Amino acid sequence: MTPIDLRSDTVTRPTPGMLAAMMRADTGDDVYGEDPTVRQLEARLADELGLQAGLFVPSGTMSNLLGLMAHCERGDEYIVGQQAHTYKYEGGGAAVLGSIQPQPLEHQPDGSLDLAQVAAAIKPKDFHFARTRLLALENTMQGKVLPLGYLAAARALCDERGLGLHLDGARLYNAAVALGVAPGAISAHFDSVSVCLSKGLGAPVGSVLCGSQPFIDKARRWRKVVGGGMRQAGILAAAGLYALDHQVARLAEDHGNAERLAAGLQALGYAVEPVQTNMVYLNLGGRAADLARHAKGEGVWLTANPRLRLVTHLDVSPTQIERVIEVFARFPGRSALESSN
Ligand SMILES: *Cc1c(COP(=O)(O)O)cnc(C)c1O
Repeated sequence: MTPIDLRSDTVTRPTPGMLAAMMRADTGDDVYGEDPTVRQLEARLADELGLQAGLFVPSGTMSNLLGLMAHCERGDEYIVGQQAHTYKYEGGGAAVLGSIQPQPLEHQPDGSLDLAQVAAAIKPKDFHFARTRLLALENTMQGKVLPLGYLAAARALCDERGLGLHLDGARLYNAAVALGVAPGAISAHFDSVSVCLSKGLGAPVGSVLCGSQPFIDKARRWRKVVGGGMRQAGILAAAGLYALDHQVARLAEDHGNAERLAAGLQALGYAVEPVQTNMVYLNLGGRAADLARHAKGEGVWLTANPRLRLVTHLDVSPTQIERVIEVFARFPGRSALESSN
């Protein structure tokens, strides 16, 4: 039986239609700026996001890094969430490679950063301090969608205090689909946006960083420095273009599957957090490793965390969701969980 892999939406495989588009891609040397498919993808995303220019990069980690390095110089600082991917899950790249100091803040329950706390964390202009230059947000943030009104307020604060505003929009399209708005309604509040093509959108590789032309010119230089300049990358960009054409609206199916999964697990007595997009979180305490082992034996792959994350995506069908619920129902440790919740 094919395993049902709920560890992440990065595990999706290219569909036959996507592979065919990759085969047909027109290519050139993208370091020379001569790959027509890469240029088309960069222009397409910049246009959809209402920003001047785009830059195709191998990963979301590199996209965020180049974004931070294009906004900030050595000795500058960015304000970021404690749980933000950029801060916590990218090897400290901004500090390691950019000499940019992070100022992390705790998240609010809705995934946002409290703007009064952000304002209070901005350092005075004094040579004792790093120069606060940028606020970096993430949307979706662990599956949560930041409200549009919050984004407008963050923009206003950044304008008032002279900060840039960067979005780690790895799952920006999930946020847009969940809100029922065009992605541009979210990106409109930001100076720069990073989008992952290799998450729910289902491409095998790639992210795009968007911003003003001078900003992207700087980021392009840093891309070369960190070794991210690729040659006939059009075969990868073609997968991204295919994803944007064919695999955006279907994100709603992933969100529906996540909702169904959450409801099914809740009914079994699991402590499930409210679901907004394609991620279901549940609190398992000490039973996570046992559950992951049980599930693996039944063909369901999970990452054993006490706060378990289940991610729905293009390679998980509604029928498989029902199977997952059955596997959780058969978990021998379930009754113990119920009594402890
Ligand atoms: C996956 C992810 C990234 C980084 O993407 P990679 O392509 O894995 O480097 C950045 N931010 C968020 C929120 C992500 O989920």
